[in-house]
Order: sequence, then C-alpha cells, then structure tokens
Amino acid sequence: MIPRYPDMEKRVALYPGSFNPFTIGHLSILERGLRLFDKVVVVIGCNGAKDSSRTSADELRSKLAHLTGVEVMEWDGLTVDAATKVGAGWLLRGVRSVADYEYERNLADINRELTGIETVLLTAEPKLAMVSSSMVRELRHFGHDVSDYIV
Ligand code: ADP
Repeated sequence: MIPRYPDMEKRVALYPGSFNPFTIGHLSILERGLRLFDKVVVVIGCNGAKDSSRTSADELRSKLAHLTGVEVMEWDGLTVDAATKVGAGWLLRGVRSVADYEYERNLADINRELTGIETVLLTAEPKLAMVSSSMVRELRHFGHDVSDYIV
C-alpha cells in the first residue's frame, strides 16, 4: 500500500507569495485553503528588499484576524526552508491562467525535487482571475482607488 502523504496529525499548509500587495484574489485562495487544511501559514517573501507596496506581516495579521487557523510570517529565504521551519506538509498556490500554470508547475516540480513537498494548486475564481498585485500597483501609481481589490 502507498503510505499516506504526509503523515501528520494536523494538516498544515504554507501559502507563499510576494503579496505585493495582498489582494482579494489572494484572500480567496487563502479562505478556500482553510477548508482543506487545519492551518495555513501565509509567508510573505521579502528577499531582503524593502518595498512600500508589499503588505507587511503586521498589517496582514490584523486584516485576517477574523479567520481561524491562519498564521502570517515574513521570510527571506527558500520557500521549502520556511515549510520545514513551520512543519508544513503542503504548499498552497493559485492558478489564474495557462501562463500561471507553466510557472506554478515549474515551482511545484523544483520544490518537490528539493524536499518531496507537494503543492496544492487551486484554480482562481473566474470573477477574480483578472486581479493581480501588478494591476493593483499600476492602478495605484496612476491615482486610482484600489480599495475594492485589496484586503
Ligand atoms: P509570487 O510573486 O510568488 O508569484 P504572488 O504574490 O503574485 O506570488 O501570488 C501568490 C500566489 O497567489 C500565486 O500562486 C499566484 O498565482 C496566486 N494568485 C495571485 N492572484 C490570484 C488571483 N486573483 N486568483 C487566484 N490566485 C492568485
């Protein structure tokens, strides 16, 4: 019999991203992930760089305070190392398009190669598939109100 993967009592997933900024598209993936896992750890990748449009961990923690089973942390390193640190058995990511899929498959493959961790890909809700952090940044840059698109 193939052993159940991974063998953990609590199902913990890591949801990594730049979240630059954290959008309603990201929130949708997180909320749907919470129906699959006991805990989802949102990991804001900072790669050492300061960026004023990236949602900070403190800000996100307070915005997500109404959700049970969420943790938020910042991480400057490899995603798989963050997963090991928090004891996550899965990575959670979202897919909006074929272009996203190609990118996500590549990431999922390399992360599985590195540590054996599996990635769960959730398809975007159709009405949110056009929401991206880069779109929000561009709208903001030109003075447009983006409050409908961010948490
Ligand atoms: P990265 O910079 O690592 O690609 P992002 O912050 O852009 O991370 O996004 C994190 C994850 O959320 C990615 O898997 C991305 O495909 C997904 N995502 C972003 N926007 C949406 C959306 N509107 N619907 C579903 N998934 C999304």
